[in-house]
Amino acid sequence: EARLANYDTALASAIAEETARQEAHIELIASENYTSKLVMEAQGTQLTNKYAEGYPGKRYYGGCEFVDKVEALAIERACSLFGANYANVQPHSGAQANAAVFMALVSPGDTVLGMSLAHGGHLTHGAAPNFSGKHYNAIQYGLVESTGEIDYDEVERLAREHKPKMIIAGFSAYSRVVDWRRFRTIADEVGAYLMVDMAHVAGLVAAGLYPSPLPHAHVVTTTTHKTLRGPRGGLILSADGDETLYKKLNGAVFPGQQGGPLMHVIAAKAVAFKEAMNQEFVNYQRQVITNAQTMARVFVERGFDVVSGGTDDHLFLVSLIKQGITGKDADAALGRAHITVNKNTVPNDPQSPFVTSGLRIGTPAVTTRGMGESDCEHLAGWICDILDVLADQQDTSDVENRVRENVADLCAHYPVYGQAQT
Ligand code: PLP
Repeated sequence: EARLANYDTALASAIAEETARQEAHIELIASENYTSKLVMEAQGTQLTNKYAEGYPGKRYYGGCEFVDKVEALAIERACSLFGANYANVQPHSGAQANAAVFMALVSPGDTVLGMSLAHGGHLTHGAAPNFSGKHYNAIQYGLVESTGEIDYDEVERLAREHKPKMIIAGFSAYSRVVDWRRFRTIADEVGAYLMVDMAHVAGLVAAGLYPSPLPHAHVVTTTTHKTLRGPRGGLILSADGDETLYKKLNGAVFPGQQGGPLMHVIAAKAVAFKEAMNQEFVNYQRQVITNAQTMARVFVERGFDVVSGGTDDHLFLVSLIKQGITGKDADAALGRAHITVNKNTVPNDPQSPFVTSGLRIGTPAVTTRGMGESDCEHLAGWICDILDVLADQQDTSDVENRVRENVADLCAHYPVYGQAQT
């Protein structure tokens, strides 16, 4: 039987290098995680071979009796995990889930109101280069600069002024609890749909550690691969009870946005939903939050500005404006020490979105490896050590070398999939 390593050495070696990178680097990108071997097992099955356009029981192809079972299980588990009575498990990604909701609820040219990318929203919430900003009249809200929290008064004012057909709540970089109820009140006042994109906090919501948007939104979208720790993919949910809405959403995913669903990925989503129902998953999510709070506290103690002063979820933003460091330089220096973060705009950022003055730091991945508070304290301290030298405009190579050695020891202690090297 041909093995990839023999058949295609160039590809196999690139995969091996990426695998080694994931083991040997500290992953603090807030949207990443390490999915389980069971999830990967489901995703690596022959289900990839099957065309199944349509929905369980209503397919355009024959031979769907078994993939129907798979999709029905995924739907049933998604509904039970999130207290929804509608789930569409077919979106290939978070962006496609969001595009389907736009297609179902609004028409090109309609006004939508979402959080700006620069303040923590996602591209698909109305950013200019995205379909959501190009084909719709997108109005954007943001944060109160002094507190780093969502400016609900601005949301209300913009909603009254522009009368959007849809309001989008949810974020890619926000560390506080969102007041979903307030968003729904504003949406009701102006007769808008409320769509919540809970992609970043879906795992925390599943564990009951972050307020669920399901009771408040008409439609909720998410990715399945961030805190939820499943395969890469999207999901649409609703607890609204409106069957006409559900039909529209299904039609917008297929045939509106997509062709055949990825049945192997849907199987992997079903595994992830099952895993998320365990107490172990709840404990994991609790540790994710504790680890983020621990790291944020170290940054504050070391004199760095954390946007909003701390965190209630799995991530926080460090503003480097005061230190005069760019996110780009900080990201590069940490990368050389084998710590992966991402540069991020912060409120009042004097730099361009490509340079930025901030870092976004998230703990889902390190927590999956088994790291706890004391590991996270060390990690945050090492990051501050590097940032301090950068702020002094000194050569960072010594501190990077020291931290890279510490990172190697820590990673060896907490292997992602293999056995611990002691
Ligand atoms: N929605 C939010 C809030 C996100 O943060 C992201 C990705 O980072 C997406 C949607 C898009 O998901 P995907 O990358 O799967 O298209």
